[in-house]
Amino acid sequence: MPSNLLGLDADGLTHWLAAHGEKPFRARQLLKCMHQEGVADFAGMTVLSKALRDELSRIACVASPAVIADNVASDGTRKWLFDVGTGNAVEAVFIPEEARGTLCVSTQAGCAVDCAFCSTGKQGFARNLTAAEIVGQLWTATRLLRTAAAPRPVTNVVFMGMGEPLLNFDSTVTALRVMLDDNAYGLSRRRVTVSTSGVVPMMDRLAEECPVALAVSLHAPDDALRDVLVPINRKYPLRELLAACVRYVAKAPRDFVTFEYIMLDGVNDNPAQARQLAALVRDVPCKFNLIPFNPFSVAGTRGTYRRSDAARVRAFAEILTDAGVVTTTRKTRGDQIAAACGQLAGEVRDRTNRAARIEFRRGEMPIPPPLQA
Ligand code: SAH
Ligand code: SF4
Repeated sequence: MPSNLLGLDADGLTHWLAAHGEKPFRARQLLKCMHQEGVADFAGMTVLSKALRDELSRIACVASPAVIADNVASDGTRKWLFDVGTGNAVEAVFIPEEARGTLCVSTQAGCAVDCAFCSTGKQGFARNLTAAEIVGQLWTATRLLRTAAAPRPVTNVVFMGMGEPLLNFDSTVTALRVMLDDNAYGLSRRRVTVSTSGVVPMMDRLAEECPVALAVSLHAPDDALRDVLVPINRKYPLRELLAACVRYVAKAPRDFVTFEYIMLDGVNDNPAQARQLAALVRDVPCKFNLIPFNPFSVAGTRGTYRRSDAARVRAFAEILTDAGVVTTTRKTRGDQIAAACGQLAGEVRDRTNRAARIEFRRGEMPIPPPLQA
């Protein structure tokens, strides 16, 4: 099997090259060829010696998951479906705005956290993506957007697609390092955001190993409701989660965390809950991003939640703002092509692991089910 160099960060590539008798500066050259120039064929990397190009062609490859579908919505949102093998597929979404272009990437096929309102969770968990499969989403999007009729750069990356990035920690961190590397994508730490449902110990590790902007999916002002909506709360309740947020901010490139809060009609959107929320986060440097719920249907299940109406979202935002918490409401983009938050279904056809959701209990470490052969 040739080694896929797309998923190696500078250290990994340097080690791999050293094992083949090559000097460290070759890693920089290779990173530039692969990620900045988008070259996949070693023969085209003319900065390398002919002998090295021939050797690489024999023992290595630059392989991104294949694109199965590529759709553009009328608002310019573009969604790719990637084949990650054994009947599984994941999605990435590009969201163009005036001053920036954000790519939303996936980290797992399916997700074991199984939040009550999320279509990815409803599909169960298939497997972790490799670093090459995560980086491959950015690599492919960058190449395709560069050659589009109206070319756009990817200026920001958010880990808000399918899966829980902090339950696929090693691949996520390797992918982050490639994204931040000046010889590769050169994105600043503030322009790369990891979103987590609240895997507390891994938030601390991320702060140590690769601090980037952090978003935390809060969704409820108390443990009783959060236990139901975001089941990992049973393992890491709000008190621990908020303490982890405060610790994270001390090391983070931004001086706040972003709390994501999905607006579910009659469930978590009443004014008393907004006041409770403001009190809850009093000591956490944070901003809020309210996300109108995006309905979805997955074979066999129908969403039981409804989106809060605009007036209710406004009233909720106003209470938070009046309490001194900066609050924005996320515009829904790309729903025409099912590319909005939480609608990324991919196609987890390999459902052998469908029942393999994690049972979160206090005092146990959640380990995702093993990789399927
Ligand atoms: N697993 C991580 C990142 C992926 S989910 C996390 O949960 O944070 C990215 C965001 O989409 C999360 O805030 C999640 O709560 C939100 N989301 C999930 N399902 C949604 C839906 N149906 N409508 C709107 N947002 C949704
Ligand atoms: Fe997983 Fe995030 Fe969906 Fe929850 S919201 S099931 S953590 S992808």
